[in-house]
Amino acid sequence: ATPAATMIGTSIGATNGVLFTGGDVLERVRDVDTVVFDKTGTLTKGEMTLTDVVALDRTAADGGDARADGVGSGPVAAAEGGENATPTDPETDLLYAAASAESASEHPLADAIVAGATERGIDYATPTDFENTAGKGVRATVDGREVLVGNAALLSDAGVPVDAAAEARERLESEGKTAMLVAVDGRLAGVVAAADTVKPTAKRAVSDLQARGKTVRLLTGDNERTARAVADELGIPAEHVRAEVLPDEKADAVGAIQSDGSRAMMVGDGVNDAPALAAAYVGAAIGSGTDVAIEAADVTLMRDDPADVLKAINVSDATLRKIK
Ligand code: ADP
Ligand code: MG
Repeated sequence: ATPAATMIGTSIGATNGVLFTGGDVLERVRDVDTVVFDKTGTLTKGEMTLTDVVALDRTAADGGDARADGVGSGPVAAAEGGENATPTDPETDLLYAAASAESASEHPLADAIVAGATERGIDYATPTDFENTAGKGVRATVDGREVLVGNAALLSDAGVPVDAAAEARERLESEGKTAMLVAVDGRLAGVVAAADTVKPTAKRAVSDLQARGKTVRLLTGDNERTARAVADELGIPAEHVRAEVLPDEKADAVGAIQSDGSRAMMVGDGVNDAPALAAAYVGAAIGSGTDVAIEAADVTLMRDDPADVLKAINVSDATLRKIK
C-alpha cells in the first residue's frame, strides 16, 4: 500500500477504536482466515461472580456425598463468635478457607471468591504463606492449615484425590460455570464455582465472522465442559474449541492451528495470551487488557468489543482494495 493509503486506513481504524501498530499490519489483517478467541475477558466480560459453594460431607465413609446447598442457605458465621465470627457450618468454613487463600491472588476467579465471601459477611484471614501456579490455582497457609484452591490438576499434583467432587463439578461446569476444588490439609473439602457472562456483542461477532467465511476458534485455560458450554452459547462448534491449555502452551496451540497454512488472528487480553498474540499471523489485544498483551499485539481493540475484529478486517480490506 502507498504511504497515503496506509495513513488513511490507520486513521479510519483509529476512529473506529481499532489501533494498527503499522502499515504492514494493516496489510496483513485482510488475509486472516481464522480468528482464535481467548475466552475470559475477551468473549466474556471477565467479571466473575461467586455462584455456588458446595461443601463435601467429610463424615461420609467412602468418597462422600456432595451437599448441594446453595450459597447462603446455611447460617452464616455464628454471632456468638464476636466481631471475628468463627466459621461454623461447612459452607462458611469452606468459603472462609478459599477466600483467605485467594486474598493473596489477583486472578479474576480469586476476586470473585473474596468478594463472594465479603458479601456473605465472612471475614477471611491473611495467609502466612502463598504460592500461585499459573493456569491451575493457589496454595496457601491459612491459620496453620494448608489450603489449595484450583482445578483438578492442582489437587492431583498435590496428591489429593478429587473423585468425590466429580458430580458437583460436572453439574456446575455443564452450566458454564468454572468450578474450583478446595482442599484443606490434603483432603478435598468442597467445590466453589464462579460464573462470567458473555459480552453482549460476542454472539453476533462470531456469527458475522463465520458469515464472512472465517473459521472461529476458542482457546482457553478453562476446563473443557465450561468452554464447550460457552462456545455452544456463542455458536462456535465443539471441534473448534481447545480448552485446558496452560499459559505456556497457548503459543504452541496457535502454531498448531497455523501449521496447515491458516493465517490466524489471535484475540486476547491476558498476560497469558501475550506469547500466543506474538505467535499468531496477527495478534489483537483487548484495550482494557493487560499492558503485556497490548505490547505483544499488532492491533488493539480499544472498545473491548469482539465485533471490532471484523471491523479491523473490513478496514484492511477496503484500504487495500482502493489502492489496487
Ligand atoms: P483463562 O485462559 O480462561 O483466562 P487461566 O489460564 O488463568 O484461565 O486459568 C485456567 C484455570 O486454572 C481456571 O479456569 C481455574 O480452574 C484455574 N485457576 C487459575 N488461577 C486460579 C485461582 N487463582 N484460583 C482458582 N483457580 C484458578
Ligand atoms: Mg483472558
